[in-house]
Amino acid sequence: MAVLEIVKYPALILRSKTIAIEKVDDEIRKLVDDMIETMYADRGMGLAANQVGINKRIFVMDDSEQMDQPLCYINPEVIEQSGEIELTEGCLSFPGVYAKIIRPNYVKVKALDRHGNEFIKEAEGYGAHCILHELDHLNGITFIDHLSPLKRKMAEKKLAKVRRVTL
Ligand SMILES: [Zn+2]
Repeated sequence: MAVLEIVKYPALILRSKTIAIEKVDDEIRKLVDDMIETMYADRGMGLAANQVGINKRIFVMDDSEQMDQPLCYINPEVIEQSGEIELTEGCLSFPGVYAKIIRPNYVKVKALDRHGNEFIKEAEGYGAHCILHELDHLNGITFIDHLSPLKRKMAEKKLAKVRRVTL
């Protein structure tokens, strides 16, 4: 396994819609393993393939308390969502930036697992936000797109500041 480099905003690949996986093979499983390792290395809760520069419809996530239950979602689709809740989100492509985002409080998705088998997952609260945040990535949408233009500007300024400090 390998830790991959995380693409930071405003890289163009974060704005592109990813492509569905036709066959879940060893190459895809290796990518999934590398993405899981990268997510843990950067202490993230979720990571989408285009955040590591790969234009494929996959994300990985772990919303367990011990961070020991990674799941991969290949070709994920929302089948149901409801409610509304505002929660603070961050993103590995936006180091140092956090923002309150309103999203559904409940989501039900279907996806393929690492063996190509379909599964259904339900999540609430942070779990639901994380799934929808990662699904947004796969559609070229980032979490700051949910903010008002003014708040988005502030988030971009904050990001620029963090980047200058860490350069
Ligand atoms: Zn993100």
